[in-house]
Amino acid sequence: TFEPLASDFYSYESLLTEREKQAIAELRAWLEADVKPIVGDYWERAEFPMQVVKPLAEHGVLSYGWDETKPFENSAVFRGFVAMELARVDASVATFVGVQNGLATGSISVCGSKEQREEWIPKLASGEVLGAFGLTEPLSGSDSAQGLRTTAKRDGDSWTLNGAKRWIGNATFSDITIIWAKDVDDNQVKGFIVPTSTPGYTATKIQGKISLRAVQNADITLEDVVVSESLRLQNANSFRDTASVLRLTRAEVAWAAVGTAIGAYEAAVKYAGERVQFGKTIGSHQLVQDLLVKSLGNITASLGMVVRVSEMLDRGEQRDEHSALAKAYTTARMRETVAWAREACGGNGITLEYDVARFFADAEALYSYEGTREMNTLIVGRKITGSAAFV
Ligand code: FAD
Repeated sequence: TFEPLASDFYSYESLLTEREKQAIAELRAWLEADVKPIVGDYWERAEFPMQVVKPLAEHGVLSYGWDETKPFENSAVFRGFVAMELARVDASVATFVGVQNGLATGSISVCGSKEQREEWIPKLASGEVLGAFGLTEPLSGSDSAQGLRTTAKRDGDSWTLNGAKRWIGNATFSDITIIWAKDVDDNQVKGFIVPTSTPGYTATKIQGKISLRAVQNADITLEDVVVSESLRLQNANSFRDTASVLRLTRAEVAWAAVGTAIGAYEAAVKYAGERVQFGKTIGSHQLVQDLLVKSLGNITASLGMVVRVSEMLDRGEQRDEHSALAKAYTTARMRETVAWAREACGGNGITLEYDVARFFADAEALYSYEGTREMNTLIVGRKITGSAAFV
């Protein structure tokens, strides 16, 4: 049965349908029982818990949103709550899903032909095929709209890809990676579904991360990688199409930021109720209450924002600047909140045993990926002033 979250202070979950609440309750129970107990260990070993993939697919998490596989009628608000729920337990698992279901499946759903959607989306939804999304490069991060160096050259019915990608999530184990490359003939960005077994494709795990350690990120090299025209995303004709995928996923990252903040806050509330100093629980001290109340304020404001952004998506009203503002704002509030939660846990706040340290560290990656705070700010700034400051 569905139990409302105490940290959803203004009861936004009441906007969900009964069917959606049931799906959240089932997902929450599985995350608490099977995922929460193992994530700290995987984080420390910098390994991804592959055993979560099948249950994620069975819970429908890898299907939500896409017409080819959607298990039941659901709203963008519901899908946001799913992202929040995952991140509330572990931001690495939420990121795995964001890459698989948002970036990889999303690229095929938004930019693929009907045949491509029918061929790939069911396999991605079942977890039979794992996907990654390769946009960022060693020399091009924030400026990837203009600065991509990976090239695509058409020759008859095939394309040859050359270049390098960096930071690509899930790419150490993905079966396909969506590669974004510049067509040397028309200079436009195009997308390709690249099977990772293709000769010339190599992915190497990035070592030594201090954030989202359980997520696998890779450096990819592409040396004369040949793919057929049937693997080119048929409706990706310029970076504008890539951006339409990112608009959707940025809003989901904003939800995951709220989930990460809630995870840290709930760990701090629990700790504040147990830890005794000066003869009473630390939660009875005024300054600790202040940390908790400021955190709840951040969470509640952020939740209101992401709910609204998803309602706008459901109504077909969401624009790039709407999801950019949500991503910039909620990740900034998350960063404050995880720091306050860590502070409330004192020294134990820097150990994995009390969970809050993992949320604290993971927040840094959410803050920077899918557009840094600065880049998302500039997207909104362009809307306000009519002047694009990043060009
Ligand atoms: P840079 O672009 O070099 O920026 C460095 C700093 O300069 C930032 O603070 C930035 O805001 C600032 N800056 C740059 N230009 C401006 C400007 N004009 N005005 C003001 N400030 C500016 N990419 C993928 O394609 N696929 C993935 O799956 C993926 N997963 C990721 C997972 C993780 C854990 C991380 C850390 C990154 C991932 N990325 C992925 C890449 C991510 O999207 C980039 O890191 C991000 O876009 C920023 O690019 P950059 O790191 O090259 O930073």
